[in-house]
Amino acid sequence: MSPNNQNLIGTKQVPSLKYKINLTGSEALSIGSSLSERGGDSVLGNELEITTILGCPVNCNYCPQDQLRQTKGKRKNKLDPKDFEKALNNLDIPCGISWTGYSEPCLSKDLPEMASRVRSLGRYQVISTTLNGSRDSIEWVSKNPIWSLIVLHLPDDKNNMKGLYTNDNYLSDIKTTIETYIKRGLTWPLRMMTFGDRFREDVWEIIKYYLDKDVLNYEENIKLSKEVSSRAEGIKEVEGMKIIKDELDQGNMKTSLGFTCNKRKLNQPVLIPDGSLNLCSFDYGFRGIHGNLFERKFSEIRKEWIESIAKDYSIGNLNPCTQCEHYVPIEKDPSIQRENTSTLIKRAMYLGYL
Ligand code: SF4
Repeated sequence: MSPNNQNLIGTKQVPSLKYKINLTGSEALSIGSSLSERGGDSVLGNELEITTILGCPVNCNYCPQDQLRQTKGKRKNKLDPKDFEKALNNLDIPCGISWTGYSEPCLSKDLPEMASRVRSLGRYQVISTTLNGSRDSIEWVSKNPIWSLIVLHLPDDKNNMKGLYTNDNYLSDIKTTIETYIKRGLTWPLRMMTFGDRFREDVWEIIKYYLDKDVLNYEENIKLSKEVSSRAEGIKEVEGMKIIKDELDQGNMKTSLGFTCNKRKLNQPVLIPDGSLNLCSFDYGFRGIHGNLFERKFSEIRKEWIESIAKDYSIGNLNPCTQCEHYVPIEKDPSIQRENTSTLIKRAMYLGYL
């Protein structure tokens, strides 16, 4: 291996510490949490992702469901609304709910009941759906414009969503969802996306109809994603698609200030049906499980969690992040400019550079 390759993702070297700095729990928390609270994609900066069912029959080629099947073992498969109520009672911080996680949320027939409960609490919620699963849930999702953001994950022309079930209902569900937002007079919360070069032709015809009528806007409502995340090395290759990791493996991963998650995933753990929280929705291997939200307050779990990972996270040693293209030297993260100086100084001290 040439010296230039020594710091590639997956084989990152841990910087040696010049001085040993003993951090108190709250200092570690301050470093760990500030790494993930500099903003990000979410509206409030904190989201809890919900997995309603472990295992997804849509089985997209870019989703490591095989890995999930092996990982889940005997864990409870289906999120019970009574358990979900316990989780909501323990969610003691401002936090949105994101219905996505490791599988299609509409697989659960209880989605309307659970999402209605979230709504009654005034928490914002977003959903990413393939419109597959329980008939009642799909209809409810498509007819109720309650989502701060609804992403319709739709088929590409290469059949990469190989388990997607489509019939006449499917196409009319897409239309119903679009019409729901048009009637509401607010179409910006609606996104239609596919992974690939093109939408499947019958789906594209529907989208094009609304684009031609100027009730949808290409820039605002449509997204073609020609590359996919490796899901922390859960997927190695997908025909015709670029895996983001391929490109980043070429980079120089040296760092002077440590590592960060450029997806801000530390703000967005995933609840699975048995109440466990996993660090990141890209980790289908459940390598970051910590705490049980049916039993304990979120703030307690999070504090303990961040304290336990802060050091490894900062120095580039946290599993599963070490397998992930989004774990980058802090200098390579453009949002670093927003990080406050005292955090940078603390981090540099922590890593032994000051
Ligand atoms: S696995 Fe990747 S996306 Fe997930 S927290 Fe780690 S660096 Fe971020």
